Amino acid sequence: MVEVTGFCAACQDRVLFRRREANHLFHFLFSALTFGLWIPFWLVLSLKKTRWRCSQCGSALTPQAEEGLDLPAEAKKPWIVRHFRGYRALEPWPFCWRISLEGLTASALAAILLSTWLPGPDRDLEESPGLFFLAAVLIAPAVETLIFQGLVIFLLRLCRAPMALQIAISVALFAAAHFWSNGPANGISAGLIGGFYFAFTYAHWAERSHWTAIWITAFSHALLNGIVFSLFLFARD
Ligand SMILES: [Zn+2]
Repeated sequence: MVEVTGFCAACQDRVLFRRREANHLFHFLFSALTFGLWIPFWLVLSLKKTRWRCSQCGSALTPQAEEGLDLPAEAKKPWIVRHFRGYRALEPWPFCWRISLEGLTASALAAILLSTWLPGPDRDLEESPGLFFLAAVLIAPAVETLIFQGLVIFLLRLCRAPMALQIAISVALFAAAHFWSNGPANGISAGLIGGFYFAFTYAHWAERSHWTAIWITAFSHALLNGIVFSLFLFARD
């Protein structure tokens, strides 16, 4: 919910105007319930611009009157931008666990949805789950963080590339590697979506220090892989 004061023509007074935000918790739960089929509707409904309404009489502002509203700069940004900006105000631990949970949810929902359409990799976990766990939860997150986020964003920061470009290039390389090694379903769910969360995490914390960026990104990545791996083992039994 965003609020701003303005003149209501119906009330003939200066009143508080409110704009409803999409109910992301509802959309998230409904997406989970429908195995991801709701995600496209969630996106469309979230991007749709909602009208400012008078808090007294409920009448909507005309688009012309909306132009005249003295909105705080932040309120004019799309929700997705405000959503990720909100993360930038958090301290390391709250940032880490919240973004890990969100990234996991987004990536897992995409994986579930895509697995019905796209072929997945034929991994043989039977052979050694222990070794796979070691690779997926300990080695891959550390190595991938150092290469795809650490090195890439370090070099781009040297060239003074803006944050959006740092994230875009890191995601493109991370997604390409996942497409190439694990196929399209994993390329999108882990590569594009997971890659975006890791790149955003790294690019944000690299402004403070590369060490902070490395541990938060690697920890978040390990947590994500660990939960996915556990779910996979659980589902198999
Ligand atoms: Zn009114």
